[in-house]
Amino acid sequence: MATNSNPNSRPLRVFFIPYFATGHMIPMVDIARLFATRGVDSTILVTPANATLISPTIDAASAAGLPIRTLLYPFPSSAVNLPPGAENLASVPLSDAPKIDAASLLTVNDHDRLLRLHRPDAVISDTHFFWTTSIAKDLHIPRISFHAIGLFPVCVMSSLFRHLPHLTVSDDLHPFLIPDLPHPIHMIRSELPDFLRSNNTAIGEAMSALSDAESGSLGVVVNSFAELESAYADYYYKHDKMTTWFVGPVAEVTGKVSRGAAENSKAISNRECCMEWLEKQRERSVVYACFGSWCYFSSEQMKEMALGLEMAGHPFLWVVREGDGEEEWMPDGFEERVKEKGLVVRGWAPQVEVLRHRAVGGFVTHCGWNSVLEGVSSGLPMVTWPLSTEQFMNEKLVVEVVGTAVRAWEGRRSTEEGEKEVVKSGDLAVAVEKVMGAGKEAEKRREKAREVGEMAKKAVDVGGSSYEGLSRLIQDIRDFDGGINGRDRV
Ligand code: UDP
Repeated sequence: MATNSNPNSRPLRVFFIPYFATGHMIPMVDIARLFATRGVDSTILVTPANATLISPTIDAASAAGLPIRTLLYPFPSSAVNLPPGAENLASVPLSDAPKIDAASLLTVNDHDRLLRLHRPDAVISDTHFFWTTSIAKDLHIPRISFHAIGLFPVCVMSSLFRHLPHLTVSDDLHPFLIPDLPHPIHMIRSELPDFLRSNNTAIGEAMSALSDAESGSLGVVVNSFAELESAYADYYYKHDKMTTWFVGPVAEVTGKVSRGAAENSKAISNRECCMEWLEKQRERSVVYACFGSWCYFSSEQMKEMALGLEMAGHPFLWVVREGDGEEEWMPDGFEERVKEKGLVVRGWAPQVEVLRHRAVGGFVTHCGWNSVLEGVSSGLPMVTWPLSTEQFMNEKLVVEVVGTAVRAWEGRRSTEEGEKEVVKSGDLAVAVEKVMGAGKEAEKRREKAREVGEMAKKAVDVGGSSYEGLSRLIQDIRDFDGGINGRDRV
């Protein structure tokens, strides 16, 4: 751990404000933990129920002597008509997701109050909280933005906002080129997140507030690594004038502790169950299927997925959401039939530990950014099954640019639930075979995945590109001259 050599100086104090989604909290807490390993006093501003999700990570880090803590502020449950304790996208039904967004807009005063009260040296804010830019400006401290996604999807969106190719095509299924990108990427409108598909002016206004907040930031901290995305850092700087610091994959350095779930008996028994089961499996033989913290599938789709995993014929570890109406979709006798080769985990699995286990050979993923990066850094080939938000862009990166993944199906693709095609069991089985089976192409893909995984690990090692990225970010915060004179930052 880097420490302060000057006894009269005090450590840098940085505040982190993650958004109310597990896929945003996990990497931001990991980043805060990384800062703490460099001697930076790190505080995470969080609401009470979300604090329980990150407390295993924070407790383990502070027990190891790292300067890291949480600072609580209330979640405006009653104002948005959510029950107490429902403070995260993962803890509400899909139809209530807009209430989480609405709640986030009501946190301005708490952020303002806490930042003015504690006056940190810098704030690292989720991009959703655009008001933190002006608070930081008032306090003469830098605001660094965090998107919770990679630079590839950020640049795809930046190009789309600038050139609007998706608004000039004749229909939702007509492919268009994303202009100017370092790689020739085509998409169709139905693969885009809802805020890009719609011409809604309210969304337009919100996006322009976000974009102003970005330009007023010192830059963007990215959970990714230069060897994967440096062309996109150059693109982002050239077109949006944004500085970026790669500091990931953050799970590589923090993944051995619990992440994203309360450390209750259920989580502990799930971990034991996964690890015991994996121990009995052959090297690289298992397909791990998991779809993030807030996915939704129809019953018909769940049934096809079950049958597809069975049909593929490889051992599988499949994580399903708890209380997902199993009685409606679980095929008759499924668990009994597959008990020798399949494990169904209900709720939360220790994903990073699972992905790193020697028995895992492939990953069926919904392409949430964290999952994609965790799969990449574990050196695994992937089957991509994007569902919503920017996930179809992430799919493009791993299938077309990096070349370590195959699509779960080739038919109609859409981020909208009502437009989704039911992916058939046979299609899934074929895709799984492409990453797990024999043949030159599969071997080449696995070899490439191993190579990229090695690069990811090296990036976070001492002296690696992301290790140095974090050093540069900390130095840039120290060097920030936003009007602070005489403060004894070191
Ligand atoms: N995750 C986990 N166990 C699970 C499901 C998810 O540890 O059973 C973690 C996963 O490792 C990742 C995060 O939750 O770090 C999910 O983030 P991602 O961006 O992949 O998807 P999102 O949940 O945002 O859709």
